[in-house]
Amino acid sequence: MKSLSKRSVIEGLKKAKESKTKGWRDTLPTWCPGCGHFTALHGLYESAEKLAIPAKDFVVVSGIGCSGRFPFFIKGFGFHSLHGRAIPVATGIKIANPALTVVVVGGDGDGLGIGGGHFPHGARNNLNITYILLDNGIYGLTKGQISPTSPMGMVSGTSPYGNIARPINPTTLALAYGATFVARVFSRNRDQVSQTIEQAIQHNGFSFVHDLSPCVEFNKLITYNSWQDKVTDIPGDHNSSDRSGALSLAESNDPIYLGLFYKEEIATFDDHVAEVRKKLTDKAVK
Ligand code: SF4
Ligand code: MG
Repeated sequence: MKSLSKRSVIEGLKKAKESKTKGWRDTLPTWCPGCGHFTALHGLYESAEKLAIPAKDFVVVSGIGCSGRFPFFIKGFGFHSLHGRAIPVATGIKIANPALTVVVVGGDGDGLGIGGGHFPHGARNNLNITYILLDNGIYGLTKGQISPTSPMGMVSGTSPYGNIARPINPTTLALAYGATFVARVFSRNRDQVSQTIEQAIQHNGFSFVHDLSPCVEFNKLITYNSWQDKVTDIPGDHNSSDRSGALSLAESNDPIYLGLFYKEEIATFDDHVAEVRKKLTDKAVK
């Protein structure tokens, strides 16, 4: 078993101390020590810093759950919205002011359970936002109930005889829904998480980042080590403009592929909204 080495933990702490992202930090995170969400938060700090996004133009939108706390921990504007409703809120924000960089952060329960009806529309519309889905296979904030990504057989407070429902694969959903940037990362790989979030923000269109982000407190089945044993990088010869090839790689549960599955540049929802606005203006002038 490949486990976290003491050296890698020390190196991680050293990097955090040397980090130039202090200007982006806000309220001290309240997550449990070791929670996978810290890596994505740091990835957002690093991306905002590297891309020199002014804090006044940066908005983080969340739903409910441990991931829902994100907007409190980072400078800029934030909206801790309703359970599962972060994508529609982000849609309104982006349409009202297309110049903003809008990032949605949510969990597996929030985005694929109650919010599961909004994900396809954000993706198919190619709204120019970034959606980071922090997947820990459990409802963490409410202390450990099975979620839409929990594996079959998993015992929890709501499944004392084992989970009898098949899990959803968020990466294959994003590809099937038509997202124009689809990547998967693992919170153990800090640099990969940061670089991928940066690329996702830079992509002009709906960017989906599926982050395998362990809940160290309530999920004893899916852990850093259980994922570490299965993850591997997407083969170097994968063509990231091939959606069907991306789907077949994304479906694999062992190994679980990490990296950029798919990327394409097409007109965004924001572009179409601008066209409609122009038509309205032209009509009013006549
Ligand atoms: Fe993270 Fe789980 Fe703690 Fe929530 S309960 S902060 S998801 S480790
Ligand atoms: Mg969860």
